[in-house]
Amino acid sequence: MSIIDKALEANRQYAKTYKPAPGGRPYPKIAVVTCMDPRLSDLSAILGLPEGDIDVIRTGGPAVTQDVLAELIVSNRVLGTTEILLLNHTGCGFTTFTDADLNAKLSASTGDASPAPMRFFSFKDPDQNTREQIDTVRSHPWISKDVPVRGVVFDMETGLLREVKPVAKHTAA
Ligand SMILES: [Zn+2]
Repeated sequence: MSIIDKALEANRQYAKTYKPAPGGRPYPKIAVVTCMDPRLSDLSAILGLPEGDIDVIRTGGPAVTQDVLAELIVSNRVLGTTEILLLNHTGCGFTTFTDADLNAKLSASTGDASPAPMRFFSFKDPDQNTREQIDTVRSHPWISKDVPVRGVVFDMETGLLREVKPVAKHTAA
C-alpha cells in the first residue's frame, strides 16, 4: 500500500473526531517562512505558539521566491498577520549541492536537458541566506514598514533558535 493510500485510510479515523475551527476562517497572527525539512514541522512546539496563530509558508531552503513574497503579502494584508519570521536551519539539504551541479546531473541522468538551467535555490551559509531573505522581504514596497521582519537559524543539534541580524542599512530606524 502506498503512503498516500495509508494516509487516506487514516484520515477516515481522523474525521470521526474532527472539530472545524470556530468562525470558519483562520486567524493567524504571524507568518513563518521555513524549509520543507520535516524536522521543522512542529513549529508550534519550536516557537511555543498555538498552531492556529501561525501561517506557515514552506519552501526548500527556505527560498524567498516571488511566490513566497506574494504569500507573505496575502498573509499580512488579507489574513491579518502582523509579524514575519524567516526560519532557516543548520544541516539543510539545499546546502549539499549547487544549482549548476544538479542541473548537470539531472540533464545527464534523464537524458533531457530541456528544463536546465532550473533554479533550485541551493545555498551554502544559512546566516547569509537569512540576511538576504530579510533584505528581500524588507525591501518589498507592499510589506508594511510596521511589520517586523526577523530571521533566525534553528540549530538541529540543540533545538535552539539563534537570531540573525539584518544587513546594516536596515538596522538604522
Ligand atoms: Zn532545509
